[in-house]
Amino acid sequence: MLSQLTKEEKDEANSNNLDFPEKIIPLLLKRVHPQNVHELASLLKQSVLPSICPKTNEEIDQLFSQIEKEPNLLFDKKVQDKIEDFINKRFERDKKIVIEQTSDISKLVLLMSDYLNEAISSNGFGSQNVLNIKEKVASININENGLEALTELQNELINAATSIEKEMNTVTNKLENGKTKVHELEEKVKKLEEELNRTKTENMKDHLTGLLTRKAFSDEVKRIESAYERIKTQYAVIFFDLDHFKKLNDTYGHECGDVVLSTFGKILNKSVREHDVAGRYGGEEFVAIIHFNLNRELLQFLKRIKTIVTENSFLYKDKKIKVTFSAGVAIRSSYTSYENTLQKADMLLYQAKENGRNKIILENGMEI
Ligand code: GH3
Ligand code: MG
Ligand code: MG
Repeated sequence: MLSQLTKEEKDEANSNNLDFPEKIIPLLLKRVHPQNVHELASLLKQSVLPSICPKTNEEIDQLFSQIEKEPNLLFDKKVQDKIEDFINKRFERDKKIVIEQTSDISKLVLLMSDYLNEAISSNGFGSQNVLNIKEKVASININENGLEALTELQNELINAATSIEKEMNTVTNKLENGKTKVHELEEKVKKLEEELNRTKTENMKDHLTGLLTRKAFSDEVKRIESAYERIKTQYAVIFFDLDHFKKLNDTYGHECGDVVLSTFGKILNKSVREHDVAGRYGGEEFVAIIHFNLNRELLQFLKRIKTIVTENSFLYKDKKIKVTFSAGVAIRSSYTSYENTLQKADMLLYQAKENGRNKIILENGMEI
């Protein structure tokens, strides 16, 4: 019977002189019932499982399935050492996995925040960076021990990134469409403005002679007068009237008269400088404002225009027609207003007509 005892039971029996079977009974009662060992093994297994690390789980499962078949293995020193080893290993392995998974999460979160920043600050032309970051999120090799939840998180981030990307594309397209529309409208506005300006200028010009109309001329006069008030830029007002124009019409026809008027307008237009103005006052009457510093400059202008008109013939079909004009010239600084200056020029013109026509008369009595 003694030989069937375990080593510990033998030692206890020897040291307590348990030499009769009935004395050994209390010792045997201390033996653990196999059912209890079973429960103990199951409790022990529950206390060490589950581990985050699937490998540890597998190893523990294997060992405990052996113990379940043979519960007494629990009392085997080697098995006990192994269980202790598992408990330690489990802690270390779990710690390592938690660290790895935390770093995966932080990598994902960092990339996602980069993605959002890029998407927000993107200029709307599908930044390549945004796409790169999305690819990086997708390519993070979630640790093989990674939780299902982490993989799910990664998928959700990729889905979020994809829908942001889609929205960005829609916004970009809309912006581009808008840009084209704005561009089209800008072009239209520009064309309309050009047309408006052209009509405005056309309305300002007399259709027959290309000179300013009487209205446009008086607008120019306002501008010139305000400059005169400020800086006293000297100018002369010249009143022109074609001589015997009625007769010209009667002789060659109204159409011929029109051609002569048009040609005279062109001559006047070409003769005045950029800051000077010339207009058709009505019928065969014209008016010009000529700026000058020295009287000589004014006389030069008057002589030139008279020479051009009188030394050339006006052409109408195959006819060469001689045309003359009379003019009166008044200097602005001699009068209190533009109107008075114009009136004086008109008076001098009348005088030129009276004195035989084909004359330019200045206020100092000079004749050209
Ligand atoms: P004067 O030398 O005194 O100026 O004589 P004139 O014949 O030029 O002057 P008058 O005022 O008697 O006649 C002007 C003529 O100019 C009368 C008119 O039929 C003509 N006329 C006015 N406007 C136009 C026009 O646009 N085209 C044409 N062909 N003739 C015009
Ligand atoms: Mg007249
Ligand atoms: Mg006339």
